[in-house]
Amino acid sequence: MFKKILVANRGEIALRIQRACRELGVRAVMVYSEADREAKYVKLAEEAVCIGPAQSSLSYLNMPAIISAAEVTDAEAIHPGYGFLSENADFAERVEKSGFQFIGPTPESIRLMGDKVSAKQAMIKAGVPCVPGSEGELPDDPTQIRRIAKAVGYPVIIKAAGGGGGRGMRVVHTEAALVNAVTTTRAEAGAAFGNPAVYLEKFLQNPRHIEIQVMADKLKNAVYLGERDCSMQRRHQKIIEEAPAPGIARKLIERLGERCVTACKKIGYRGAGTFEFLYEDGEFYFIEMNTRVQVEHPVTEMTTGIDIVKTQIMVAAGEKLPFTQRQIQIRGHAIECRLNAEDPYKFIPSPGRVTMWHAPGGPGVRVDSHVYTNYFVPPNYDSMIGKIIVHGDTRDQSLARMRTALGETVVEGISSNIALHRELMLDAKFVAGGTNIHYLEEWLSHHQR
Ligand code: ADP
Repeated sequence: MFKKILVANRGEIALRIQRACRELGVRAVMVYSEADREAKYVKLAEEAVCIGPAQSSLSYLNMPAIISAAEVTDAEAIHPGYGFLSENADFAERVEKSGFQFIGPTPESIRLMGDKVSAKQAMIKAGVPCVPGSEGELPDDPTQIRRIAKAVGYPVIIKAAGGGGGRGMRVVHTEAALVNAVTTTRAEAGAAFGNPAVYLEKFLQNPRHIEIQVMADKLKNAVYLGERDCSMQRRHQKIIEEAPAPGIARKLIERLGERCVTACKKIGYRGAGTFEFLYEDGEFYFIEMNTRVQVEHPVTEMTTGIDIVKTQIMVAAGEKLPFTQRQIQIRGHAIECRLNAEDPYKFIPSPGRVTMWHAPGGPGVRVDSHVYTNYFVPPNYDSMIGKIIVHGDTRDQSLARMRTALGETVVEGISSNIALHRELMLDAKFVAGGTNIHYLEEWLSHHQR
């Protein structure tokens, strides 16, 4: 096991990784920007290094500053968390070339999965079901593009191979609009992601977002830890997640999970990863893989009893996965609500001083948050200030626990989306389970204030 690792992130995930290190008896070096000097995990740290000004490009995205911080503190490994440099293959490569262990997959795996065209091709080869569409990148010839779209059937979606964060996508309903849409998406993708390659997929009308968590070690062992339902999204951003997915037969999930495990073995995957799927009419369609720990990992931890972050560190150190597929059991039901510092209905970010913070508690309640009373939420980063996660024997119990937990939560001084979560936990369709990816936006359009 490592003696010391550097945590190259901020916010709740930095605190989460620091906690995992403590339990493992590993020293965690925290890094921070000038805007995060007062962060809880910095105050709690045995060692902390300032890596630059508030602006992410000069701090949390500054590779030389992060690598030097690891050098001066004698850390052996770097945990990238999520966002920032976590899915940057060049960063993973530089970390390893500088003699540190990157806590995540190899740079090759990150690169393969970071390009959605190569990721899809790898998944097809491994027998993972994908959304029907073009075989790889779209050609230049308009006649060929029309032929491909016609064969797939309208509506179609044009997607950038290098896209991410819900950007670089365009839905096309008719042949008349096709070629123009391809040209525009290409130009935007070239400007935004430095890669003009685009591909085409059938646009699914009412899917749910279902994802499979996997975990692999360096000794070719891989397992899946069940699924998560992350269909409650606004602008492709998840706000509520749960495990297991309501109303989907275990047999279907098991078959899908096994395919994901086979794919991990085929591509030599190591560490934590997520295969994302759209689910419609009883079928799953792969859309992309995330090669890092995800915001919503706690719902899987609560239902499996497995500490995903600790396991990431253990397998990066070369240890064998401490469990086999047969030992993994899904118990009860977990729900996560993401707390954002924003107006609950207009979604305008609301950074500033938190004058009062009171976190909920009680059986089956977990709070992952770096906030405390008098903490200043900096305006420079993502608006997420924490997550409330609950676990119960059944989905109903879990819903009741979430309502109680949200009722106890106090955030004053800034706006938060707690009011929205309180309403959604009482919404008849959400309570019934199985809402699709458009549900939240439709709900919001009927609940304008
Ligand atoms: P990103 O990497 O930008 O998050 P994804 O490929 O994961 O992009 O897609 C993000 C979201 O876009 C999905 O969760 C879904 O809501 C929508 N989407 C993507 N592909 C399709 C498709 N073929 N049909 C319908 N919706 C899609």
